[in-house]
Amino acid sequence: MVGLTLANALGQSQFKVAIVEAYSPADINPADKYELRVSAISKSSQQVFKSVNAWQGMLNRRACAYQHMHVWDATGDGCIHFDAPDLGLDSIGHIIENKVVQYALYEQCLKLETLDCLCPRQVNEIHFDSSGSKIILDDASVLNSKLIVAADGANSKVREAANISINKSAYDQKAIVGVVKSSLHHKDTAWQRFLPSGPLAFLPLGDGSCSIVWSAENRKADELMAMDETAFIAQLQEAFDGTLGRVESVSQRAAFPLIRRHAREYVKVGLALVGDAAHTIHPLAGQGVNLGVLDAAALAEVIVAARRDGKNIASLSTLRKYERWRRADNSIMMASMSGFKHLFSNEQPSLSFIRNAGLNFVDTLGFAKQKIMRQALGLEGDLPEMARSTGW
Ligand SMILES: Cc1cc2nc3c(=O)[nH]c(=O)nc-3n(C[C@H](O)[C@H](O)[C@H](O)COP(=O)(O)OP(=O)(O)OC[C@H]3O[C@@H](n4cnc5c(N)ncnc54)[C@H](O)[C@@H]3O)c2cc1C
Repeated sequence: MVGLTLANALGQSQFKVAIVEAYSPADINPADKYELRVSAISKSSQQVFKSVNAWQGMLNRRACAYQHMHVWDATGDGCIHFDAPDLGLDSIGHIIENKVVQYALYEQCLKLETLDCLCPRQVNEIHFDSSGSKIILDDASVLNSKLIVAADGANSKVREAANISINKSAYDQKAIVGVVKSSLHHKDTAWQRFLPSGPLAFLPLGDGSCSIVWSAENRKADELMAMDETAFIAQLQEAFDGTLGRVESVSQRAAFPLIRRHAREYVKVGLALVGDAAHTIHPLAGQGVNLGVLDAAALAEVIVAARRDGKNIASLSTLRKYERWRRADNSIMMASMSGFKHLFSNEQPSLSFIRNAGLNFVDTLGFAKQKIMRQALGLEGDLPEMARSTGW
């Protein structure tokens, strides 16, 4: 998702880009069941996707806009609620299958003459050189490139080949995902209940069902994954407190270990890391890919400006601008997510009291509450040009 966003942004400025992807992107069929992997796409990502002409392709396939967000604590009466109109928005965000995001971006790449999509192809070897690097693919073909961008995800081979180390710590949780049908409609709301064992989100889908992201301590997650459908539904029903009535069915499930990673460097001469290759965070606020999309937009802006000013696009002085810009923003978001995770995973009565009182207090703050939310939605701050909009 992040690599294709960057390729589109650069392709629009007539940069010659080769995209190497291990899988051939496949389009969805509207008759297909919902995919297990979905993302809450923020307004800033929406704007970037609009700028690269991929947004309509996402809407034309499957995307569910949500107007409300409701977050509450299972250990007390603390809750916070957001409505799009109060934030001056037509929606808070959209829940979109990752496959839809990828395909809509890929479709745009195919339209741009200076982009070359090499897929399915894998990167086998990289020989870095300050004057231009060489990439050897699995079919033995060779690419020579001034600038390599690692957008190859959390276990980035390119990052490894460049000897860039990461700060890594496990959240000691796994996230279970699945598609759930409940007896009540989701009311165009993204729901999240904080349980002591981890947050449980119900994210709205177009047919009234929900995509769940249930983060739980490793042992509990393994137990939940081993359960049959009936036992899992009973646990889910209890964990969600019957908020959307009866849970009627759940699809096949998948679990992902949750690990915080942050690359010690985002750039070297001739190399930049974007998206999960640079950072991974807890999915509790649905920010991972949104941060990556902003990385892509920021890097494109820095590269385009360097070329315009006659500078070397692959030099350290150019690429450091990108690193300074995005590392600061990503670090703040990563620290906030770790803080939230620890605050809400703690059963100490004093912390439970502070949490619940805090949620209720923030919920009463009109302007400040909106300000916090607008920041979290990526509507404010040092946004790349492509992510800005005059009207949401
Ligand atoms: C349970 C869960 C829920 C989440 N929910 C949200 C959410 O609601 N909102 C949100 O913003 N984020 C969410 N995230 C995070 C989000 O999924 C990631 O941040 C996002 O997928 C990162 O995108 P990316 O393009 O950087 O990397 P990836 O999606 O990992 O893409 C990397 C690509 O590189 C390719 N690749 C890898 N190695 C090679 C190679 N050697 N050669 C060729 N190709 C290669 C892969 O095939 C892949 O297509 C969630 C994460 C989890 C685990």
